[in-house]
Amino acid sequence: MENKIYDVLIVGGGVVGCAIFNKLIRIGKKAVLIDKASDVATGASKANSGIVHAGYDPLPGTLKAKLNIRGSKLFPSLCKRLNVPYKKCGALVLGDNREMVENLYERGKQNGVKVEILNREQILELEPHINKSVTVALFAPTSAIVSPYMLTIALADEAILNGGKIFLEEDLTSCTKKGEIFEIKTKKSVFFAKKVINCAGSGYNEVAKILGTERKKLEFRRGEYFVFDKNYNLNARHTLFPLPTKIGKGVLITPTVDGNYLVGPTSEENRGTKETTYQGLASIKQKSVLIFDGINFRHAIREFAGVRVICGEDFVIERSKKVDGAINVAGICSPGLTSAPAIAEMVVELLGFKDVEKKNLKTLPKYTLFKNLDKKTQIELAKEDENYRQIVCKCENITKGDVLMALSRPLKVHSVDGVKRRTNAGMGRCQGGFCFTKVVKTIMEERKIAYEDVIKENRGSNVAIGDIRGGK
Ligand SMILES: Cc1cc2nc3c(=O)[nH]c(=O)nc-3n(C[C@H](O)[C@H](O)[C@H](O)COP(=O)(O)OP(=O)(O)OC[C@H]3O[C@@H](n4cnc5c(N)ncnc54)[C@H](O)[C@@H]3O)c2cc1C
Repeated sequence: MENKIYDVLIVGGGVVGCAIFNKLIRIGKKAVLIDKASDVATGASKANSGIVHAGYDPLPGTLKAKLNIRGSKLFPSLCKRLNVPYKKCGALVLGDNREMVENLYERGKQNGVKVEILNREQILELEPHINKSVTVALFAPTSAIVSPYMLTIALADEAILNGGKIFLEEDLTSCTKKGEIFEIKTKKSVFFAKKVINCAGSGYNEVAKILGTERKKLEFRRGEYFVFDKNYNLNARHTLFPLPTKIGKGVLITPTVDGNYLVGPTSEENRGTKETTYQGLASIKQKSVLIFDGINFRHAIREFAGVRVICGEDFVIERSKKVDGAINVAGICSPGLTSAPAIAEMVVELLGFKDVEKKNLKTLPKYTLFKNLDKKTQIELAKEDENYRQIVCKCENITKGDVLMALSRPLKVHSVDGVKRRTNAGMGRCQGGFCFTKVVKTIMEERKIAYEDVIKENRGSNVAIGDIRGGK
């Protein structure tokens, strides 16, 4: 039994759970991560602005401030190690209220962040399409952008490569503690672990109830977005924010590392649901024009929504007082993506482990898409492997070889959206109209499963339920 006991079991495979998991494996702990979904990064970690915040916004002295600043410092080397796209594009907070900008400046200074106040002329030099109402801005040159789901996936993959285990589609049913050991049951499996971490995002209370740990008063705020076609250049070079309000950072305009623009999010209290709404999208159109001119929403190719999980004013990261050996990680709203690597460090400390990484850790392969390889390598690869001669996604130029590469990564998924997050297939203008069935077929062949067993995202989202009239 001893060798079946994990040092730590983590519930929740968002960016926070995966960052903790990755860190634990890197310091030589036996860690396991379970998630009810069919992939990692299916919660807030796939549906956010993808900004690595500089750290001028959180209140000095809070966990949000401390972890944001530490996290944003860890990002460049982390993304380099994992070959995850990351770009320091800088951010501007735009408005007509100098006092508010000065307050943000002071807060940035207190947090030790590089910030500058710009007048209209200086703003126009950086961003010529700013609305005429904007007279003053805070400039944060260290703000960056990242692919939040690629980061989460790479953290998970690297940990698996180094001995970590992830179990997906696991529904927790019970948790009992026998002596020092937790026995955690799901509908499919039984796990034994010395420590347990709840980082289930919006599912935090559901998991806390089973673990017997503290439940929290959580608030959910939905954020809706527009995604723009890559061929449409909004001509914004930085992440552009309006002045923040009590309910958030406001409707922003940002480039993505994939070459699209995002405009959003809204911030509206809800029950944790992720559909987009006419009202939400209309309000994005109204608000974005207040800071930036000439956005043509006819070039939007998709809308999506993510849900912020808020627990009071700050992140909650603590040892449970009710259950010894359990750690609560709750209310990780923005800047949770930025803070994730620093949250992992903090949790390691709370667990009482030394943060000393093992030597001889395996490096994650680069998983570079065919379109991003140099010409010579492309020619060689296409010569030796016919899968690189077949285009699966015409909008994004993704080959069958890329899809197979995604399916060969350490975390095995069988969902179309899982392939989409790993390759971008389906993220272009036609939104999967051309590649959907090709991706499904490749998953079927590679995983040796029936058409009906391929899912779009999670269990129950099967792409087909059977033949029509028994025909083939
Ligand atoms: C609209 C929006 C914009 C944002 N923009 C930014 C930004 O630009 N920069 C930034 O730093 N932060 C941003 N954030 C915050 C950031 O996205 C989150 O802080 C971060 O993704 C939270 O990660 P997580 O791992 O805690 O949660 P999640 O990603 O939600 O992961 C939780 C996981 O737990 C699993 N789970 C839930 N219940 C159970 C259960 N019962 N059993 C097993 N598993 C379970 C879920 O399946 C999920 O995989 C934004 C958030 C939103 C919503």
